[in-house]
Amino acid sequence: MKLTVWGARGSTPVSGPEYLVYGGDTTCLEVRTRTNEVIILDAGTGIRALGKQLLLEGFHHFHMLLTHAHWDHQLGFPFFKPLYRFDCSMDIRGWVSAQESVEDLLGQAMRAPFFPVHLEDVGASLHFEYDCPSRFEMAGIEVRCFPMSHPNGGIGFLMIEGDKRVAFFPDNEPRFPHPGAPDYDDFIEFIRGVDVLFHDGEYLREEYEAFSRGWGHNVFEDTVRLAIEAEVKHLVIWHLNQDRTDDGLDRMQQEARALIAELGANLRCDLARTGLTIHL
Ligand SMILES: [Zn+2]
Ligand SMILES: [Zn+2]
Repeated sequence: MKLTVWGARGSTPVSGPEYLVYGGDTTCLEVRTRTNEVIILDAGTGIRALGKQLLLEGFHHFHMLLTHAHWDHQLGFPFFKPLYRFDCSMDIRGWVSAQESVEDLLGQAMRAPFFPVHLEDVGASLHFEYDCPSRFEMAGIEVRCFPMSHPNGGIGFLMIEGDKRVAFFPDNEPRFPHPGAPDYDDFIEFIRGVDVLFHDGEYLREEYEAFSRGWGHNVFEDTVRLAIEAEVKHLVIWHLNQDRTDDGLDRMQQEARALIAELGANLRCDLARTGLTIHL
């Protein structure tokens, strides 16, 4: 598997000279399988540049998984250029809550007066799966689902290809019991021993205690500790706060690595940044 981060910013895209290192696009992760198929996780604004790259490389078929309905995870979908190509097709599966289907969810944003092109009128052929079982196959790899602890719900994914396992939980506050959330210990077992864990680590402790507990996002030290507890090999901290500049994120990365050293753990740790690529 080859994993590429196209956006890991939380809540809203940002831009400016203070965001150049880590990037300002919202959640989008590309997974390339060993057979060179493409799975796109979430359709944040990072998907815009990914779409251009995939067309350049001559791809016509794509798979997409959606964790939840929050705007920062859907915002880029109408700007994914392959959508407007009659020679492109996409299989889409995702978490559904109040909406009847993922198609309705994406269609709400792609209709007048919010957007000039209706989802039904795009050129690409879209295939929606209307259920999301706890285990299924996509692009030749096994995918397992597990609830995120997050306002309005959502699911994270575990992708398994051969002996490699990758978990994606971009928005998750596992120690805070949001409705439908699993036990913390069950979550740890679900991700135990994965090669790469992409996981929410948006907040500093003081921010969390002052105003953001229960907002659905995690303190980065707690993310480091859960990764150690779950014997994760490589942690990539996700959902970068909209106000956290490159300097602040550099400090967060240093502090995360210092904590790992202090705890004597064998865990590789990076903050997500646009362009980060991991080969497994
Ligand atoms: Zn988010
Ligand atoms: Zn969210």
